[in-house]
Amino acid sequence: MTESLAPLPSPVPAPTRLIIDLSALVANRRTIAARVAPGVEVAAVVKADAYGVGLEPVVTALAADGARTFFVAHVGEGIAARAILERRGHGDARVFVLNGLLAGTDEAYAAHRLSPVLGSTAEVEAWASFAGPRALGLDAALHVDTGMNRHGLETAEAAALAQRPELTTAAGIRLVMSHLACADEPAHPLNAAQIERFRAARALWPDLPGSLANSAGVFLDGATHHDLVRPGVAVYGGAIVSGAPSPMRPVVRLEATILQVRAVPAGETVGYGGRETTRRASRIAILSVGYADGFHRSASSADGAAGARGVLHGVAVPLIGRISMDLMAIDVTDVPSAARGDTVELIGATVTIQEVAARMGTIDYEVLTGLGRRYQRVHVGG
Ligand SMILES: *Cc1c(COP(=O)(O)O)cnc(C)c1O
Repeated sequence: MTESLAPLPSPVPAPTRLIIDLSALVANRRTIAARVAPGVEVAAVVKADAYGVGLEPVVTALAADGARTFFVAHVGEGIAARAILERRGHGDARVFVLNGLLAGTDEAYAAHRLSPVLGSTAEVEAWASFAGPRALGLDAALHVDTGMNRHGLETAEAAALAQRPELTTAAGIRLVMSHLACADEPAHPLNAAQIERFRAARALWPDLPGSLANSAGVFLDGATHHDLVRPGVAVYGGAIVSGAPSPMRPVVRLEATILQVRAVPAGETVGYGGRETTRRASRIAILSVGYADGFHRSASSADGAAGARGVLHGVAVPLIGRISMDLMAIDVTDVPSAARGDTVELIGATVTIQEVAARMGTIDYEVLTGLGRRYQRVHVGG
């Protein structure tokens, strides 16, 4: 279970709750599995505390549903994922660490049976000289860059490495992978270029399995699927195509309890900076959510510039004024029954993560990975 920053003894009600639907998570992974050919492995990307949703419940649910290959970004995340998999009886699962092999971390990889994703010749050489003589039996991956210019071997570097088969064997490389820069923009010309360059890179190691697709890549084109796909955000309910509604089931719901409802006459301002003025006699509900919870201040409301919204008793209710560190105000004038103790939904099936992200001026990935540590996390459907 993910630790909250301020865990409460169980009978004490939390002012905000993040409800995480593990059955939706599993359903989303199955939707992806249905898009790829039967022999294609659907790995699970669980970096950044499983996109802010909670590493332990996510790894547990996905491993129980058959996931056997996991990707994290940092060694520390890998160690945590490995411990969870051991506890749940899935010690055979692979855990790849995407961000490469940092000097001095080899022993940790070996001790926790982590698979490095090697992104340069220097990393391949370092891992081969460490892992080769020890016969660790750990799979490693080779990351080749196909045009993103982020992590991975350059084209010429890959071609030179292909001339040194003893090195890739000693390193235990069992996967050749690359990453798409623009898969969420299906018409972007870089997609076709990367698909072609990856085909060429794989031809250097014809016997090794390949992996190219992230979430959006899975939906882009069958030519990206290869032997293993690496969906992340879509499993957590994120969008496939930038700016379009997500076809996936929502996984997170953010609920806040109304702390108080106050009557504010017309012509008064609400919140820091006095940026929004009531245009009518209003009823304003106060919620225990703020930018310190990852609800970015950029989703604030001001005169002439609407901010985020919530849902109360089935009615959309807009934010009013600036989001504070720990509080926000919602205009509930249109819901006469609104009362202290009622629940407002701030993220869910109606107000999607995509909508919230748009109001914040960011993407659903950042909303998810920034979900506050003070929220009480409740995992259901597991
Ligand atoms: C994060 C990441 C993924 C998952 O990407 P999504 O867009 O969340 O599906 C896959 N591969 C690599 C290399 C990544 O860094």
